[in-house]
Amino acid sequence: MLVINPLKLANDCKISRAYFRAARWGGKRRCPSCDYQRRLPLVNGDRFRCSRCGYRFKDFTGTYLERLRIPFDELAHLLYLFVLGVPSYRSRHYLTVSLKTAQRIYTTFRQSIYDHSFTDQVLWGEIELDEAMYGGRRKGKRGWGAAGKHLVFGLYQRNGKVLTFPIPDRSRNTLTPLVTSHTKAGSLYYTDDWHAYTWLSVKGDHVVVRKEEGVPKAKGRHHINGIEGFWSFSKNWLYQYRGIPRHHFHLYLKKTEFRFNQEDEDLFPIIASYLVISGTNIFLITLKKGMELLNALTAVELGVINDQQLRRFMHRNISFFFPNSLPRRYPFPV
Ligand SMILES: [Zn+2]
Repeated sequence: MLVINPLKLANDCKISRAYFRAARWGGKRRCPSCDYQRRLPLVNGDRFRCSRCGYRFKDFTGTYLERLRIPFDELAHLLYLFVLGVPSYRSRHYLTVSLKTAQRIYTTFRQSIYDHSFTDQVLWGEIELDEAMYGGRRKGKRGWGAAGKHLVFGLYQRNGKVLTFPIPDRSRNTLTPLVTSHTKAGSLYYTDDWHAYTWLSVKGDHVVVRKEEGVPKAKGRHHINGIEGFWSFSKNWLYQYRGIPRHHFHLYLKKTEFRFNQEDEDLFPIIASYLVISGTNIFLITLKKGMELLNALTAVELGVINDQQLRRFMHRNISFFFPNSLPRRYPFPV
């Protein structure tokens, strides 16, 4: 990834476009559908056509950027502000797009972070477990189970990463699968004395840290200060947003997790790479092609298109549906 001052990008549409293009292809353009990279002629304007499978694509087809449709310099500008942690309502006077558009783009940034957080990350070693309640400033019932609040489960590997999950409740049935799938057996677990954790001694070593008053202060390594540090870090970030839409809470949460885990990194190139290269891209293309096929089959059934047209459609996408099977010229046997 290129190292460049984001302000330079924000000043120049050409440079920022080149930056995102370089992030997308790494110098080598390849067919998003079949990964072919040798003959990709340019057809009409900025659209390329794969000589192997016939798939037509633009530079940012299938990425998050495809849907944004704003100038690249403004995109770089917004990403810069996002990385600095400036909420969109505060930067509204300095944008060439509307506040609504800026919010939409911020949501896309968060979405890309969220989508990339779905790795099968497994923690090991010394792990602190805890739950926390978010959104405590509202009126009404307080504490566990209050309406309009979000319950979050967090795992923190000491000197490592934190993993968070929004959870419906803090019962054993909810927590057990999360612990099982995201920690290695034989780890050393630190938790509070919540009863849902009692089974942990089966999976590894378990240290219960008591937090009530009257109990002498925990000594040495017997604490869950790491995960509690994350809770305050995360809530501090979220306070500055004036209320978080309920259906977007998971995006905001993962963003703070991302910030916590990459605290020493420059987030600009990381998020830029998320925006242009995504594990979901190929999936989206597959989905799109699949829908096309379903539509074509339905259309044949309804008599909208005939067999000949279906044959042509399959022929056009042959190496997509059957990669490595037949050369392109081979007539598809329908
Ligand atoms: Zn192709």
